Amino acid sequence: MRIIDHYIGGQSVSAGVRTSDVFDPNSGKVQAQVRLGGAAELDAAMAAAKAAQPGWAATNPQRRARVMFKFKELVEAEIDELARILSSEHGKVLADSKGDIQRGLEVIEFCCGIPHVLKGEFTHGAGPGIDIWSMRQPIGIGAGITPFNFPAMIPMWMAGVAIATGNAFILKPSERDPTLPVRLGELFKLAGLPDGVFGVVNGDKEMVDAILEHPDIAAVSFVGSSDVAHYISSKGWANGKRVQAMGGAKNHGVIMPDADLDQVVRDLAGAAFGSAGERCMALPVVVPVGADTANRLRDKLLPAIAALRIGVSTDPDADYGPVVTAAHKTKIESYIDMGVAEGAELVVDGRGFSLQGHEGGFFVGPTLFDQVKPEMRSYQEEIFGPVLQIVRADDFEAALKLCSDHQYGNGVAIFTRNGHAAREFAARVNVGMVGVNVPIPVPVAYHSFGGWKRSAFGDIGQHGMEGVQFWTKRKTVTGRWPDGGVGDTGSAFVIPTMA
Ligand code: NAD
Repeated sequence: MRIIDHYIGGQSVSAGVRTSDVFDPNSGKVQAQVRLGGAAELDAAMAAAKAAQPGWAATNPQRRARVMFKFKELVEAEIDELARILSSEHGKVLADSKGDIQRGLEVIEFCCGIPHVLKGEFTHGAGPGIDIWSMRQPIGIGAGITPFNFPAMIPMWMAGVAIATGNAFILKPSERDPTLPVRLGELFKLAGLPDGVFGVVNGDKEMVDAILEHPDIAAVSFVGSSDVAHYISSKGWANGKRVQAMGGAKNHGVIMPDADLDQVVRDLAGAAFGSAGERCMALPVVVPVGADTANRLRDKLLPAIAALRIGVSTDPDADYGPVVTAAHKTKIESYIDMGVAEGAELVVDGRGFSLQGHEGGFFVGPTLFDQVKPEMRSYQEEIFGPVLQIVRADDFEAALKLCSDHQYGNGVAIFTRNGHAAREFAARVNVGMVGVNVPIPVPVAYHSFGGWKRSAFGDIGQHGMEGVQFWTKRKTVTGRWPDGGVGDTGSAFVIPTMA
């Protein structure tokens, strides 16, 4: 059995007695075991990080950027193999795994420009003979705790910016698909990153708690489900750490009567069912405005759903593959049971789906519900599977309220040809990332990513300038060079002002 070890101080480290199974979701078979570490393994990674970080922070930003350039080159050179690894543990189709890696690389591209970003601010002559300048300094050692659903992109969101700004970074990836994150560590080393600046500690809650309790970890970045995000932010803040914790989602797509429904259906098929719905920016709730829109949309959705092709990750014609584990398949199917019990109309039933020749795989068929009501638990909670729910709204205001009142506020989209409606919606909706005729409005790398309400705890987003802000501390220096007389007014007992 293949064992997935930690990556500490630039090498693979076998430590810790507990392990967890890593599955191939296509076959349902265990393909490897990952070590589950705790405080001792974290201490080892911290010792390596502490030894390496001061030298790395003192390396000039252009040289740090060159490591990012080289890393990007290395990842690109083996993207096919990386995508194969990713798909084999996650279950998403190969083309989608490449997208996962590419979106991470786009943050690395942003990090190639880090010297420009770190230039700071300067005011000459802010007072008599006084200059003020600010600089952004690394926070020291940071940790990232990441979910299973983007095992390449999300570690790169965090590691890229943390490392480029001069920190050491310790990654605790999801125990469901840890092989690719460990490989990223090896590629950083090949790119010239000093040993210890990037470490990977594998584990579960025990490792997470060790991170939250470690006094020398200054900042923790988390992405995962909301209850865990809440736990991590509360505990991290109580322990004096800087924390950003992104949580779950239930994104809505509002369909106005004037929308191009053919385009909407094409967008929805990908956004609701792509990656088997295991995306925090998936679109699992559609809100048609008016009964006529709802009926027309439903009629067009049915053939699109019937045409979806479910297959193994390596099938180039598959639209989506299996979900990550048997337990997750069971959870999704139990939400479908719940929707039926709550009185929603099950239009397409994906339960009990089995792929011929791959009967052990964790496949779930596409599912469509109509007549879903806001008071249903199956609507309120995140399902994270290939399940699309239609919630009908009478008018624009009702649709806007539905999106705004939901406990999650990650992403939302409006489909319309009416610029005024789109503008109103974008301004008023209580959600952090908005798409206008764009189903998955994930901001590009040089903007920042983050939702509202229970989709994010803490108010600093991932990557872009907010990422730089998260991984650095601002220091502002106010200085003067007295010339031995002029401007010396003696002691000042009143706060200096510019009055
Ligand atoms: P998860 O919360 O189960 O796990 C995330 C990480 O937390 C993993 O590294 C895991 O080991 C750790 N963890 C799990 N349970 C823990 C516990 N009780 N205490 C401490 N640590 C724990 O999430 P997941 O199933 O891996 O990922 C899917 C979730 O992530 C979904 O809710 C999805 O919406 C969310 N997500 C959010 C975003 C976003 O940016 N908002 C992006 C991707 C995924």
